[in-house]
Amino acid sequence: MRRHDDKGSEPDERPTGATTGTPGLAVELRGVRRRYGRGTGAVNALTDVNLALPRGTFTAIMGPSGSGKSTFLQCAAGLDRPTAGSVHLGGTEITGMSENELTELRRSRLGFVFQAFNLLPSLTVEQNVLLPMRLAGARQDRHRAAAMLAQVGLADKARRRPAELSGGQQQRVAVARALVTSPDVIFADEPTGALDTGTAAEILALLRQGVDALGATVVMVTHDPAAAAWADRALFLADGTFAGGVEHGTATQIAARMAALGTPTARAGVSVGAAA
Ligand code: ADP
Repeated sequence: MRRHDDKGSEPDERPTGATTGTPGLAVELRGVRRRYGRGTGAVNALTDVNLALPRGTFTAIMGPSGSGKSTFLQCAAGLDRPTAGSVHLGGTEITGMSENELTELRRSRLGFVFQAFNLLPSLTVEQNVLLPMRLAGARQDRHRAAAMLAQVGLADKARRRPAELSGGQQQRVAVARALVTSPDVIFADEPTGALDTGTAAEILALLRQGVDALGATVVMVTHDPAAAAWADRALFLADGTFAGGVEHGTATQIAARMAALGTPTARAGVSVGAAA
């Protein structure tokens, strides 16, 4: 995930006092805005983002380059702070949290899968999967790690190092690591961007299985309609706000909707789907 170097725009409308999230929702964004910079050079990367994702769902976030996908993911995952609005994860408001609280939250209650796998090369596969527990100061549950490695088909690779595995296998480890703490939400940022089509489908099947069999909640940013078709819904960002979605769409349907979003008239006419 890309980090934004943005020293000139401290949040100026941060809410004071935590509000309560809606029961049953894993992710809830209300009136989220993110502005970079100030004055005439300011960029409104997110203009008005409202989103309500129930637990146990798989959502793809799509949109053209510059539509705000990275900014959305960073604000939703507590890696960046919105200029205004609130973010609840697993019912807890994260918007007013300190840096330490956010770090703790990311370690204990969120999972991440990145395009570049992001495994630690000096650790074994098993140690990589145990890492979230270790960082959170929790007991390192080796049975749980073994179960997650079995879940992603890598039971026999626990003692290997990442460099000994293929790209697809490394991403399987990353999925196991994301699932191991039963997080409130797994954020996936172009998780298949570095993989060939067949391997990508295997990874998407594992995320799907995580949702269906383990009750995980997955929010995946992708530009690929074929990847988005594995999700329950694809939601489209356009100019910093959600502009409709497709429920249980095929890759072709999602691609057509994406193409239509490019035209201003189509953009004005879309309904907002699952985005509250
Ligand atoms: P996407 O991921 O969909 O390509 P981004 O969230 O990266 O979109 O960017 C949304 C908008 O915010 C774009 O106009 C981009 O140029 C702008 N932007 C992103 N990061 C910064 C930053 N650090 N400073 C200024 N503008 C930024």
